[in-house]
Amino acid sequence: MIVLTPFVVTPPDSVVTENDYRAFQLGGTLQDLGKMRPRLISLQSDASSVTTQAGSVNGEVERLKELYQDVRVKELVTEVEVAHNVEDIRFALDPRLKGHGAFDPDSKPPVILVNPASGLNAANIAHSLIHALQIAEGYPTIQRGIFPDKRQDVVVALSNSVLDIPLVVALIERGFSPSEYLEPTLEKIEEVFSSRPEKNELSILRFHYEAAIYIRLEYEGAYLSREKRAYFDALFGAKSPIGYRLGEKMLKIIRRSSPYSARGNAIALVRLLEFLNTTTIGRDVSDFRQHLYTPCIDIVRRKYVY
Ligand SMILES: [Zn+2]
Repeated sequence: MIVLTPFVVTPPDSVVTENDYRAFQLGGTLQDLGKMRPRLISLQSDASSVTTQAGSVNGEVERLKELYQDVRVKELVTEVEVAHNVEDIRFALDPRLKGHGAFDPDSKPPVILVNPASGLNAANIAHSLIHALQIAEGYPTIQRGIFPDKRQDVVVALSNSVLDIPLVVALIERGFSPSEYLEPTLEKIEEVFSSRPEKNELSILRFHYEAAIYIRLEYEGAYLSREKRAYFDALFGAKSPIGYRLGEKMLKIIRRSSPYSARGNAIALVRLLEFLNTTTIGRDVSDFRQHLYTPCIDIVRRKYVY
């Protein structure tokens, strides 16, 4: 049965795994969710009745229902229900999401949030569903509110990038193409970069954030055309040279790690944060500070590594 029900998402106080690519918008997180009232759709697999909620946008709801009929998506939904031991999961269209999608495991039942503007494609929905499986398997996620400032965005972006390494493999195995959501994201990144002036004083957290995004080009970007990949590699090198250099070093750390298991993924994340904690980037960054991420490292270690 597909039922559209009015439903308020309670503010999740621990984890929301976001399909981020927040188009480089540092600031603004899902912390605001408590004030939002997403349009929620409860999807179950066995019947056909549809009740629409007043005010919902029908084209978007219809598109979401279509995507749900995709056999590959349905299979994943069932796996997530089993993994989280719930009868059903819900889908919420949320136009205020910063990313394309997100998974909130703390709602009862768990909720897949979908950005109706950018997230209504099968690969993106599968992306959120695979994050849901990862959470059930004990992969590391960053709890809310570790930092009161933009370090929170950095650690969330980095955690998502490391989670996405095994996730991309799972997407491909299940017949989804990461380019389906990556291509529009790259257009946004291009926009942001092209409006950036040549001489630009950016903060260390911004470099860290862009390095975290750069890592994705290596993994999700592997499914782009060779030309497109080379183009974005060069674009990062030109427009975010410090983010690029950091990102290259971080890729080496990842290659020496084994992010394809829950614990290995947590260890890779800790190693990357330790690297950011101490690297001065050749003294190119004026506001470098040591131990920026220590509180987060301690939490991830305690919860997922030991
Ligand atoms: Zn992701």
